[in-house]
Amino acid sequence: MKYLSANEQYKQRFGRKMYKASVSLDVTCPNRDGKKGYGGCIFCSAGGSGEFSSSASKCITDQINDAIALVSRKAGKDAGYIAYFQSFTNTYCPADHLRCALEEAADHPDVYALSVATRPDCLPDEMISMLSEMNEKIPVYIELGLQTSSDETGELINRCYRTEEFRDAVSRLRDKGIYTIAHVICGLPGEGEKEFLDTVRYAAHSGVDGIKFTCLYVLRGTKLEEMYDRGQISLLSMEGYFDIIEKALAVIPENVAVHRLTGDGPKKLLIAPMWTADKRRVINYINRRFG
Ligand code: SF4
Repeated sequence: MKYLSANEQYKQRFGRKMYKASVSLDVTCPNRDGKKGYGGCIFCSAGGSGEFSSSASKCITDQINDAIALVSRKAGKDAGYIAYFQSFTNTYCPADHLRCALEEAADHPDVYALSVATRPDCLPDEMISMLSEMNEKIPVYIELGLQTSSDETGELINRCYRTEEFRDAVSRLRDKGIYTIAHVICGLPGEGEKEFLDTVRYAAHSGVDGIKFTCLYVLRGTKLEEMYDRGQISLLSMEGYFDIIEKALAVIPENVAVHRLTGDGPKKLLIAPMWTADKRRVINYINRRFG
């Protein structure tokens, strides 16, 4: 099945293969500290979805060097890197705090772009102005955790913001020429194929430049684990998941890049489904089915 991959979109924009270098900023999330909620989204681990980045106690340059060292042999010397502020809510801080970190990342000689993961309800005007200034110096991507377009499911997963805030954030970022990427999850509690495809249609037609899919997986220490133990959720098989993803790809406009067909949680925390941890098997399957 033909779709625009992130690699193709990066090639058009940067003229080279791009890799992510994950870094952590010393921030938390309004879903955890009580501003919006406690305990976080039901699927989110204590590390705030940033287990692949190094410690926020290191400076940004050292974190980028660590991340590059992990992939540089595979990436080769012509690769470019995107400094990816991955864990928690990276705009949940004063704009100047994030600006300092972004400037340090942008100064790294191998960094060609910045990517910032956040929530749509944590983008006040001052933050968007700062991101826009940065975007004039170096391309900035904002990754927004939508997960679902249903406010009902949003409540069930303790997302603590309304779906319309997502569209508003995308439009304000787009007005400044900042690329946006939506994160969506397939298999959320109470949702089936129809609800997921509704989410994909909603996200893909909201003005985003890219979309990231992941299959719901259960991590140790999360609310989702408690629901899983009580038998309240069912999880998708690999084939069942990709059957739905194939339908999702068919509803995405051709200018929206697919940044990920599925995600994998940290192995040491993963409880189920175990196929999501078998990277080689998943990649082989994706290549056979979608390659
Ligand atoms: S908003 Fe993001 S970081 Fe915060 S709890 Fe939800 S998934 Fe985790």
